[in-house]
Amino acid sequence: MQQHHQQHDSSSSSMASLEEAINRKELQFAAICALVGIAALYVAVPRSSEPAIHSKRSKDFALNPKQWVNFTLQESHPLTHNTRIYRFTFDPNAKLGLPVASCLLTRAVLTTTGSGRSYSIIRPYTPISDPNAKGYCDLMVKFYPEGKMSRHIAQLKPGDTLEVNGPVTKLPYKANMKRHLGMIAGGTGITPMLQIIDAILSNPNDYTQLSLLYANLSPENILLKDNLDALAHAHPNFKVFYMVDIAATDWTGGLGRINKDVIMKGLPHPSRDTLILVSGPPGLVEHVCGDKEDENSQGELAGLLKEIGYKMEQVYKF
Ligand SMILES: Cc1cc2nc3c(=O)[nH]c(=O)nc-3n(C[C@H](O)[C@H](O)[C@H](O)COP(=O)(O)OP(=O)(O)OC[C@H]3O[C@@H](n4cnc5c(N)ncnc54)[C@H](O)[C@@H]3O)c2cc1C
Repeated sequence: MQQHHQQHDSSSSSMASLEEAINRKELQFAAICALVGIAALYVAVPRSSEPAIHSKRSKDFALNPKQWVNFTLQESHPLTHNTRIYRFTFDPNAKLGLPVASCLLTRAVLTTTGSGRSYSIIRPYTPISDPNAKGYCDLMVKFYPEGKMSRHIAQLKPGDTLEVNGPVTKLPYKANMKRHLGMIAGGTGITPMLQIIDAILSNPNDYTQLSLLYANLSPENILLKDNLDALAHAHPNFKVFYMVDIAATDWTGGLGRINKDVIMKGLPHPSRDTLILVSGPPGLVEHVCGDKEDENSQGELAGLLKEIGYKMEQVYKF
């Protein structure tokens, strides 16, 4: 997931001029993407595979792929020293309108220090609340001291609004599409996994086995560990194993980088009935399965998963 971020950084000047163009001409987001060439723009994540929701999109859904809408911040609470959950509200009769697994786009207008020029920024986030909930959605956002959007969101006060657009579908999940899903996540890369985990575990007719390998810097940095542990306790088809870089001596999870041994012991073996999902910072994705080529292409399979013997179609990179 965070791999996209790297592309955002490297294209920041073209992003800035594009975003100014959006402000000036108020063109539709989709038209802008077409003009500048989708490959250069991280926000141009594929928008396919939303059949039911798109054909029915109406006031039943708060998100609109053709229009920026305002969500209102209700409250936020900290998960760790740098990550918070933000609850945004919208029409209490509407659902968010988010097929699993999808993200949404956020947009903010910022002002350059010095020249005072205004420009807008766009960043994707992956809601973690129940997509069927009416009137609200929750975003889990990590704060970066130099981060434009994460700082913008961090300074919002209850009652302030955030512009959003979407959904942007990533992996259209269908119940029982595979017998066993393996998940490798790092940090806030857990967000798309949470959507899929919730979809499976809340559906009594979905018999998918789920194995999550979740990597973080330290035990204190593990996001929503209590929730994940409770789910694993309640659902025999869900297993979670944590890996951290640094830990005290009483730590019972894994220590160090994700390696072949831990993948082979914890995740489903390569087969037509299995799929491995990977989401995390660029270093993790590259190490585990090779970088994505761009937003619209999964790129080559490389790294640990290739060495173990998985094929490209058995791996999905968020
Ligand atoms: C499909 C998708 C879904 C996403 N979902 C989520 C989500 O649910 N929650 C979430 O918190 N984020 C998510 N992200 C990342 C998010 O979109 C932003 O990239 C992130 O919040 C940083 O944006 P920013 O504007 O604050 O930082 P920017 O202004 O873009 O970056 C400024 C500086 O911040 C630091 N920085 C920013 N991002 C990183 C990083 N990943 N690793 C290391 N340093 C970094 C760097 O120093 C960078 O130079 C998602 C990204 C994608 C592509």
